[in-house]
Amino acid sequence: MGQSPRSISSVCVFCGASGEAAPDLLDAAARLGQALAAADLKLIYGGGGVGLMGACALAAHEAGGKVLGIIPHFLKVREQRLDVVETIVVESMHERKMQLFDRSDAFIVLPGGIGTLEEIVELLSWRRLDLHAKPVVFYNVDGFWEPLFALFQHTVDAKLTPPDFMQSWTTADTVDAILPALLSALPAPDSDPGINEKA
Ligand code: AMP
Repeated sequence: MGQSPRSISSVCVFCGASGEAAPDLLDAAARLGQALAAADLKLIYGGGGVGLMGACALAAHEAGGKVLGIIPHFLKVREQRLDVVETIVVESMHERKMQLFDRSDAFIVLPGGIGTLEEIVELLSWRRLDLHAKPVVFYNVDGFWEPLFALFQHTVDAKLTPPDFMQSWTTADTVDAILPALLSALPAPDSDPGINEKA
């Protein structure tokens, strides 16, 4: 098995960058950012200031949380790089994804579009290849991700993907359930590591 964290100190959030996302999704992203800050978890994200990604990062930053953005040079303007948080500018999408992966102990997937899908499918495919065992939690607001899960199951039913792939992630129906779901997805501990609650 590849990289397998015993505790979580940094969390990558994959989510949509569309400026037209519904207000309740933007609000959920912001509440997740606040929850990450309150739990003293560093947010690792795509570095932009737009859509759910901007809402989450700004809320985490304003709540006193640690935030690291990783953005390719060519997207700095288009995705409105957030200047108020620490940001690493990279050359390519591949480099961005590699750094997002390497610097994170776990992953949260909020609703998103084609970019979010690309990122999460790669992450889960690496899991399938045993390249990592980092926890992955989908925020399944109003069943948003059910069509994706159904497609995964379709490939399992066709015997193209092993059934245990369907245990590669957990889901949370509310923002409050996301961090507990992350913790419960950690490999069984010898001791009691985990999220450090701020006093
Ligand atoms: P979207 O879900 O389409 O709003 O995109 C969310 C984020 O994924 C944005 O920051 C995009 O730049 C990013 N993204 C889009 N395509 C890719 C890709 N091929 N690899 C990595 N990130 C991507």
